[in-house]
Amino acid sequence: MRTSLFALAALPLVLEAQGPGSRPSADTVSAPISSVAYEVTFDKRTGPSGAFGVRMTFGADGSGPVILSLPAWTPGAYEISNFAQKVVGFEASAGGKALGWDKMDFDTWRIRDASGPVEVRFTYVADSLDNAMSWSQDDFLLFNGTNVFLYPEGRPLNFAARVTINTDADWLVATGMTPAGHNVFTASNYHDLVDMPFFVGAFDLDSVSVGGKWVRFASYPRGVVGTQARTTVLSQLSKVVPQEIAVFGEAQWNTYTVMQIVDSAFGGASGLEHQNSHVDILSPQFVGSDFQPSLYAHEIFHSWNVKRLRPSEMWPYVYSHAQPTPWLWVSEGITDYYADLAEARGGVVDQKGFFKLTAEKINEVNGLVPVALEDASLSTWIHPVDGTGYVYYPKGSLAGFMIDIMIRDATDNAKSLDTVMRELYTTTYKQGKGFTADDWWNAVSRAANGQSFADFYAKYIDGREPYPWAELLPKAGIKPVFEKAPRMGVSSQQSQAGVVVTATEPGGSADLAGVKAGDVLLTVGDIPVEDLNFGARFRLRYGNSPEGSPLPIVVMRGGQKVTLTGKVMFANAGMRLEADPAATAKARRILAGILSGK
Ligand SMILES: [Zn+2]
Repeated sequence: MRTSLFALAALPLVLEAQGPGSRPSADTVSAPISSVAYEVTFDKRTGPSGAFGVRMTFGADGSGPVILSLPAWTPGAYEISNFAQKVVGFEASAGGKALGWDKMDFDTWRIRDASGPVEVRFTYVADSLDNAMSWSQDDFLLFNGTNVFLYPEGRPLNFAARVTINTDADWLVATGMTPAGHNVFTASNYHDLVDMPFFVGAFDLDSVSVGGKWVRFASYPRGVVGTQARTTVLSQLSKVVPQEIAVFGEAQWNTYTVMQIVDSAFGGASGLEHQNSHVDILSPQFVGSDFQPSLYAHEIFHSWNVKRLRPSEMWPYVYSHAQPTPWLWVSEGITDYYADLAEARGGVVDQKGFFKLTAEKINEVNGLVPVALEDASLSTWIHPVDGTGYVYYPKGSLAGFMIDIMIRDATDNAKSLDTVMRELYTTTYKQGKGFTADDWWNAVSRAANGQSFADFYAKYIDGREPYPWAELLPKAGIKPVFEKAPRMGVSSQQSQAGVVVTATEPGGSADLAGVKAGDVLLTVGDIPVEDLNFGARFRLRYGNSPEGSPLPIVVMRGGQKVTLTGKVMFANAGMRLEADPAATAKARRILAGILSGK
């Protein structure tokens, strides 16, 4: 998953941390079922209802009640969502005769006297603009299998299933599922079944061939990503995908589908990964933004890292309750590091762009209260309110960057984090299991010529110590530059009278000049204060002035215009990265290796 900016505030509320309390007791086991098939109906007639029809059919052997459950979460979206909330009109029948049923908990139905061919029907309300959920418009439906595909409680999830989409002839269906006829799809097991969301309706669909694979781009509503913008999207995908395939040496999919919704009701941009597709929801201003290729690169890298190479705590996925893991700094953070690398290696950004992406992460982490990566990973399920709930993205990305530098430094650039990722992919995922702490740290240590990472782990993964940039960046030929910027030091708000000062910070230009709360700012130096954006104009105008330069500040105070005598003051404004002109040949090789993947 990857979410940007104000979208965080729009995330749905989590109901409970440790699962919904919806786990039937351990001895709750459904009677076996067979020949499982699902039908989803969404067309021009039903579209305006804001809901869609779901039908499940299966064979029951009559040995006991059939107990069916819906998942409590969608893997990748680490929160309990209780999809059963949107089920309306549940009914079960056999041979046209209604069957008795009741609920065992809020997402589990018990069907009595089920024998022979059984049919279950319900309507599902698609009103959640969220990539883990279901959302419809008159001409479009997004749904996730986790929302609607019931599974037999306590039974193995390796049952095959068929999905039929009933829709209009001129509407499209996009999904990562394997086609088995017109709008008919199959999956060999439940994990695959619920990992392949659907678009149904009127949307645009393009594809591009990338290194022997196909990448499809589906976007709703039609025309929202125009011709020029689509060309840009396909070009960005063509650049990043081969770089990601190169890390692992293969892709397990032949076709990958990027499924994108653009809607102004969504506050930000968010992606949710699947094994051969992902669903993005973007506010219109994110279309064509710098964040766009970063989002694609992040979600597509997940098709290796987390959908296949996965922490053992989430292997296999369990759908009935939360599966916390301390490893989201690898599954999400290192995925985000590789998004930056794929952009740099594929030429979407240059070296300067990579430095900018990295410095932004450093500054973001420096601005938060210190929190350990493992703790942040475990806590995300409860969405902590202290601002650290998603710190494992930037901070985990930076941890990956540090490990990469350390391995390259220990091996004169012969090995890297790529070595670790590919080795673990081969030795854990390809062996049908998740990775453990031993798997991870042994692979890291092996790649780094046997160097121990115990101290690194204690300080920077389990611990909360600040990252040692002054020591590590020079090893990669990178120089940190601590930037200073002019600082007014005022909080202000827009009112009828203009921009009104609400507070001043000690040591800023405003404080030293004698600006007071309640003053209406008129000019700061030669910058007219017309709106709340005057600070950016001020920093631009005076960024190159010597500290202490005269800075007259004119305010309206008690109906009088007052000119205060101020001076330009500077404050720390974060870190910037640049290539170190004094870097050693080895450090230059390491930087070139990071940026090229060689
Ligand atoms: Zn992610």
